[in-house]
Amino acid sequence: LAQLYVPLSSLGVTYREIKQGLIDLEKMYQILNSQPEVTDHPSAFPLQCQGGEVHFRQVDFSYQRGDRKILHGVEFTIPAGHTVAVVGHSGAGKSTLAKLLFRFYDVESGQILIDGQDIRSVTQASLRQAIAIVPQDTVLFNDTIAHNIAYAKVGASQLEIETAARSAHIHQFIVSLPQAYETMVGERGLKLSGGEKQRIAIARALLKNPEILIFDEATSSLDSRAEQAIQLELDYLVQKKTTLIIAHRLSTVIHAHQILVMDQGRIVERGTHAELLARGESYAALWFAQQNGRYAERDVVAT
Ligand code: ATP
Repeated sequence: LAQLYVPLSSLGVTYREIKQGLIDLEKMYQILNSQPEVTDHPSAFPLQCQGGEVHFRQVDFSYQRGDRKILHGVEFTIPAGHTVAVVGHSGAGKSTLAKLLFRFYDVESGQILIDGQDIRSVTQASLRQAIAIVPQDTVLFNDTIAHNIAYAKVGASQLEIETAARSAHIHQFIVSLPQAYETMVGERGLKLSGGEKQRIAIARALLKNPEILIFDEATSSLDSRAEQAIQLELDYLVQKKTTLIIAHRLSTVIHAHQILVMDQGRIVERGTHAELLARGESYAALWFAQQNGRYAERDVVAT
């Protein structure tokens, strides 16, 4: 019986590994195939990015045809290299804008254009090459930190990975770990905090070096030091990139070239922080409510 123990127990380990591997694959599959109905048009051509101007032209959208409309006539432009931030209460439709720009779904009517090209007419591969998303909740694969960063760019060198990690202010943390860049993370490895995971996501985005960046700010509250650090990284990250920030904290939108205030799928106000404060309407109300800390974060800010 003892002779059987070792092979059986290693079989157990192998079984668990295979099972975990299948779970990882399943997750990956879900991510990659979240919207299989969005397909390349037979005559799709590669997106020609020249700076990455984004234009939403009179966009209407519902998740299921005939269902409740989530976006109504949304119209805005992000000039190449500019930053636009979207704020509004929870459910206003902010994240939906990001999902449409990445073409997880197609618009019901209207158009989304990048440098004048309708995103439905270009190949999905070229579209997704031009855009990086720093999501609210970063998925880490059961792999090393190095591979988790490099996942954005197949064949990235160690130097490129480290440069991206330095810029995302996560390099010092990584090299303080006993196995540094070879440390396993994910469900079976080292658990990282929300802020650390977000920095890994920022490093991924920097390594990918796309023209367009979508930053879907984490809803979970960060302490003010962590928030300041993320803000610095964000300021660095958005330099010269066309950026859409889905904002949940107003402090991160002050420097945006334009702020869009959404309410029930419509843009109800737009302008710079100073212009919107001077106007004294919805944005000003959100801002002063947040400053006074009168409401829970999710009610106030933007989400
Ligand atoms: P939050 O700040 O809470 O993240 P949000 O402003 O980003 O909210 P969205 O996530 O864009 O809002 O959601 C807008 C509306 O669309 C909500 O009413 C939501 O319930 C609905 N919705 C979001 N995703 C789906 C989906 N996959 N299927 C159906 N309805 C959805």
